[in-house]
Amino acid sequence: MVCYLGLGANIGRPVYQLAAAISALATSPNVSLRRISAVYSTKPVGAVEQPDFFNMVVAISTELSPMQLLEMTGGIEDELGRVREVKDGPRTIDIDILLCGGMTWDDAELTVPHPRMEQRQFVLAPLSEMAPELILPNGRPVLELLEEDCGDVEMLGRLGVLVRGGEGVVRTEEIVSRP
Ligand code: AMP
Repeated sequence: MVCYLGLGANIGRPVYQLAAAISALATSPNVSLRRISAVYSTKPVGAVEQPDFFNMVVAISTELSPMQLLEMTGGIEDELGRVREVKDGPRTIDIDILLCGGMTWDDAELTVPHPRMEQRQFVLAPLSEMAPELILPNGRPVLELLEEDCGDVEMLGRLGVLVRGGEGVVRTEEIVSRP
């Protein structure tokens, strides 16, 4: 089953944290990293005053259930020092489960597909880059939706991430910088 995860960070060393999260995903048991998007810069959602975000999307394949996947991504967030203090506030790393094949899940802890993914340009832009024809839960292709409203999203560049099977990510480069 192919799952798409949305990654975001805006404090600490955001690009390093994105790379570290990818590294952790790549070395997690029962997960294969398939593709990673470029990194995008986006304005924060909500009223909290905070730095712009760095966002990207990754595709993995896994047979883990959505709930097992949430446990794993939560573990990675914790390892990278994620603290939850303010709703929609700054974060060292955030990992959202966007889509898990065609599976749906809806309980107090987890909703898949992610209920707000279709309204977020910082999800649609990187997702359309890797799967432009992907049909979203609302029945529309991701690229079509993105073209209607390009929003406030800027593609910055790609992470140089070298993945070695078993050993994990050996080298990451920060090739992205704020203008
Ligand atoms: P956030 O502030 O966006 O990081 O919220 C994290 C919480 O949202 C997690 O503790 C999850 O229990 C919950 N959640 C619900 N649906 C999802 C989803 N699709 N992906 C990630 N977290 C989710």
